[in-house]
Amino acid sequence: MSDKQTSLFDLIHQIIREHGPIGMGDYMSLCLGHPQFGYYMTREPFGTKGDFTTAPEISQLFGEMIAVWAATTWQSLGQPEEIQLVEFGPGRGTLMQDIWRGLSAIPAMRDKASIHLIEFSPRLQKIQSENLIGLPVTWHPDLTTVPHAPSLIIANEFFDALPVEQAVYHDGLWYQRLVAVDEEDLIRTLGKPLQGIMVDNPEDGAIFEYSPKIAEAMLEICGFLKQNGGALLAVDYGDAVPLQNRIGDTIQALFEHEPVGIFDSPGNSDITAHVSFAALEEIAADTGADHVLTMTQREFLTQFGIRLRADKLLSTANDNQNKEIQAAVHRLIDQSQMGDLFKVLQVIYGI
Ligand code: SAH
Repeated sequence: MSDKQTSLFDLIHQIIREHGPIGMGDYMSLCLGHPQFGYYMTREPFGTKGDFTTAPEISQLFGEMIAVWAATTWQSLGQPEEIQLVEFGPGRGTLMQDIWRGLSAIPAMRDKASIHLIEFSPRLQKIQSENLIGLPVTWHPDLTTVPHAPSLIIANEFFDALPVEQAVYHDGLWYQRLVAVDEEDLIRTLGKPLQGIMVDNPEDGAIFEYSPKIAEAMLEICGFLKQNGGALLAVDYGDAVPLQNRIGDTIQALFEHEPVGIFDSPGNSDITAHVSFAALEEIAADTGADHVLTMTQREFLTQFGIRLRADKLLSTANDNQNKEIQAAVHRLIDQSQMGDLFKVLQVIYGI
């Protein structure tokens, strides 16, 4: 990470010099999604060779439990004849592979199901198409081209990759935090005052995160489900702290599994923020969802039977496989690992 002069670094400097400081969200957007230099367009994010590991890349058990959720939810929706499996940010396509295999036990559901993937990285789309070969998959830029039909929408570590803005409390007012240039460095600075932030008793220097992009994506999903019936399962690292108490800077960058500064090497490290499940829940409730519930990943996976399924796999496993399965279950559900930090939001329309 010694060489700061990535092309994106130069481009961001140029944009700020020409147009003035940019929002934290614009900065995240450029780093992750710039069509030429963005992280998701160029880098291999996942696994030991990448920068981070996601639950489906840890174990097939994760996708299998989501298949159980999908089947149960399909039943509570009255077993619609045609069901769409829609996934936002499918990464390598591993999760959908595991869900599809898991659903082979329910031909009445799977035989008429179709898969719709929303992915902005051509590089990852290609990997997805290789991993999901032979399955009824179509790709979409967003929900506007997805057919209107009952849908189960799945998003694992999608919302945490969307741009987040920050507000800083200073001398009795909230100001938008901006990214500016100071000689060769990118620095944080204060922008215009903001109205409408309702945090209880903020202290000077407090930071409040909000995300117009997350709100927009969630509204789009909820509107679609309200119109067509179906459910959302959103899994992400984050918290359910009520918005009036939610203070703190959660934007972080990872490079080869190690934390790095968010300005260190734009476009080369993954940048994410903790997802506010309170904010997602508020939108779901406002759009009139029939069921809105957030639980921890531990609770979710346990409820849908991860231990039973692991025991089944263990019964035919050799020593190495045995260790792998035990380690994967530990990583997915232990409170010191992903069990508590990751949350699962279920939203259902039309039951
Ligand atoms: N769900 C996968 C990958 C998570 S990484 C897993 O669990 O392994 C985030 C994914 O979201 C990547 O596929 C990334 O390319 C995609 N993504 C991020 N921002 C996006 C956006 N604005 N529109 C569409 N896809 C996006």
